[in-house]
Amino acid sequence: MPKRIIILGAAGSIGRQSIEVIRQSAATEEPLVLAGFSVHHNAKVLLSLKNEFPHARAAYTGDAASAPTGADWAGPEALAQLLSAVQADIVVNGIAGAAGLSASILALQNRMHLALANKESIVMGYRLLKQLADDNDLSIIPVDSEHAALFQLTQKIGMHAIAELTITASGGPFRTLPLERLAEMTADDACKHPVWKMGRKISIDSATMANKGLELIEASKLFDMPQEHIRVLIHPQSYVHAMVRTFDGALYAQISEPDMRLPIHAALHWPHTYPSPFGHAELAGKTLEFFEPERNRYPLVWLARNAMDAGDAACIAYNAANEIAVARFDAARIRFTQIAQVVSETLAHSWNLPVSSFEDIFDIDMKARQISEELVEHIAW
Ligand code: NDP
Ligand code: MG
Repeated sequence: MPKRIIILGAAGSIGRQSIEVIRQSAATEEPLVLAGFSVHHNAKVLLSLKNEFPHARAAYTGDAASAPTGADWAGPEALAQLLSAVQADIVVNGIAGAAGLSASILALQNRMHLALANKESIVMGYRLLKQLADDNDLSIIPVDSEHAALFQLTQKIGMHAIAELTITASGGPFRTLPLERLAEMTADDACKHPVWKMGRKISIDSATMANKGLELIEASKLFDMPQEHIRVLIHPQSYVHAMVRTFDGALYAQISEPDMRLPIHAALHWPHTYPSPFGHAELAGKTLEFFEPERNRYPLVWLARNAMDAGDAACIAYNAANEIAVARFDAARIRFTQIAQVVSETLAHSWNLPVSSFEDIFDIDMKARQISEELVEHIAW
């Protein structure tokens, strides 16, 4: 039986690349079937996907009044309706931001495996999501390239033998910019990513390396590894996505061309490894470089480590404060360098709060957003 897939956030960068993986699979011995998908506001993509995949059911999660006629469900309940009406083997969560957490919960509650690109879900609620997955005998398969790489490495080597994890970062578009010029950089400058073509939020996060801060938290939670044993290395070529060091000192790396379709393909076929045309690396003639990140260029990496030391609630606050700060930076309300300031000052509040239910998570998220909104209001340009 071909695997049935639901893609959430089908119009986004992850969503579109997931559709490409499904398209490419059609001519192979392991075809994947698009059973359903969601878009938030992109009616054009909804209509063209309905045209291409007439059997796929579609949810339009934006305002029902502006939904196109092809939508099977529309409005704020559309995601829940799609996930309870359509049974699939795997749900790809490619929704951007904290909104993705509810989608992850719904996918697992409806007993479907989760291919998780939405890193905010992991940062905010991995422990509870994992519990939900375990209770229903389901898997959470990471799609974020570094974590997909660690997932492959840890499965192949065995967690018991692993002493240290390394995730790599491209360093973003400002890696070599003189530090004194960072404050004048605009959101459009930040979105000119040297390697990956991604959504706007994650592109800005790559420039500040808040993306790597979120990924440190993500790696720590997914692989149950204390943050002191997770390293971040800048690797501008983005060929090596992650490494593990075994207790005997050897390093093992996962290497591919930077192409998100490979981790998506791996997640959709997991636990099997099938041929793919995506990401084959050819190393002859290539120079691969690795550097330690500079603390004064990328303070958000260290702020993420502080958040991890402070506990789960502080990690939720880190994500929320960064989301608010990035949105305000994208609207030219604050400067690039003030993103870290907003996150740092938000984290300076007390986050010694219990996180024992999804309600707790949403409450802490809301509280952190309010605090950072106020900080943004009073920040001097
Ligand atoms: P994009 O902004 O390209 O796409 C996200 C999609 O989410 C949009 O198409 C949008 O729909 C939908 N969306 C936005 N808000 C909501 C909401 N409130 N409810 C429902 N749907 C919503 O983002 P990316 O694809 O780049 O990233 C998606 C996730 O994957 C993020 O968490 C990111 O960190 C993660 N990720 C992305 C990578 C990449 O290479 N892009 C790599 C690793 C992780 P619409 O367009 O219809 O309005
Ligand atoms: Mg990543």
